[in-house]
Amino acid sequence: MYKVLVADDARVMRFATLRILKKLGLEAIEAEDGLQALELFEREKPDLVLIDVQMPGLDGLEVVRRIRAMSGEHWVPVIFLTSMEDESDFTRGIEAGGDDYLTKPVSPVVLEAKIRAMRRLDDMRRELIAVTLELREANDRLARLSQQDGLTGLANRRRFDLDLMRELGRARRERRPIALIMADVDHFKAFNDTYGHPAGDDCLRRVAAALRSVCRRPVDVAARYGGEEFALILPDTTEESARQRATEAVRAVAALEIEHRGSPVARLVTLSLGIAGCVPDADVVADTLVERADQALYAAKRAGRNMAVAHSELPLERGHPGAPLDLDLGAAAASGPTLH
Ligand code: GH3
Ligand code: MG
Ligand code: MG
Repeated sequence: MYKVLVADDARVMRFATLRILKKLGLEAIEAEDGLQALELFEREKPDLVLIDVQMPGLDGLEVVRRIRAMSGEHWVPVIFLTSMEDESDFTRGIEAGGDDYLTKPVSPVVLEAKIRAMRRLDDMRRELIAVTLELREANDRLARLSQQDGLTGLANRRRFDLDLMRELGRARRERRPIALIMADVDHFKAFNDTYGHPAGDDCLRRVAAALRSVCRRPVDVAARYGGEEFALILPDTTEESARQRATEAVRAVAALEIEHRGSPVARLVTLSLGIAGCVPDADVVADTLVERADQALYAAKRAGRNMAVAHSELPLERGHPGAPLDLDLGAAAASGPTLH
């Protein structure tokens, strides 16, 4: 029920106003001075305040200033009551936070009309708040979506770039290790050719889920780098520990048991992975890590696919891109589980 607080030190005036409110079917509570008005406002949480400007002690202006200060976002309409046709009272009333004024004695018709107007304002305000909230939620959703890969739900390239830069900066400041794993589906073109593009999409979704399952800590990031290439950012992880995660990734994808008839490597879908990790100094930027992981990934491809290679395992004198690599990948190849 709509509750109205009437604050007026003049008894007769207060009663007259209360009578009108009751006739209108509204609940009315009364205060005979400013302090009581404040108390009742806090306790009863009225929907509307009718308050005399001039009261002994705490006057109406001060009461309304305090009401406004303590209500914050929550707006309650306030109508000032004044017995004098003194325009400066109206101005000061609005300045103190009042929304309207009425001259005493209050006319029932005018009061009813003003209450209706205030309720209408209140309804509009509520609607506006609801719409604003919806809008904010939609914006948040949109912000999240704009950083998410549509097919797999992983972080997209944009998010990956931002996250890698942030984590690299943190690792540099705190002199902590950071590792990056780049993973690429083996012979995926042949997969599409054999099973069709929709099946290829489904395969990518499942591989993505498997990679996400390898990222156990909240700080780990699994991203779709592009096409059938994925990336894992592993803060606070050495290249050595990252190798374990890469092995887990290989196993997780193997466990999916996605048939791949067109692959010369295995009868199931497999990954090749490149690992790069270090305690970054000022020379190591995001591209440095990506390049190192990419070189290692390329080496894994050259060495037969379905395995993980770490950048530190590559010979120092690397051939220019495209040149045959003279690699001793015995150790790397042995540690990459195969599915034959
Ligand atoms: P490699 O083992 O050397 O990585 O061989 P590959 O065939 O996997 O590599 P290549 O780069 O030749 O082919 C990648 C294929 O991935 C080609 C492209 O059509 C496919 N691909 C990229 N993005 C998507 C996608 O979103 N959905 C599907 N179904 N296929 C995709
Ligand atoms: Mg591939
Ligand atoms: Mg590729």
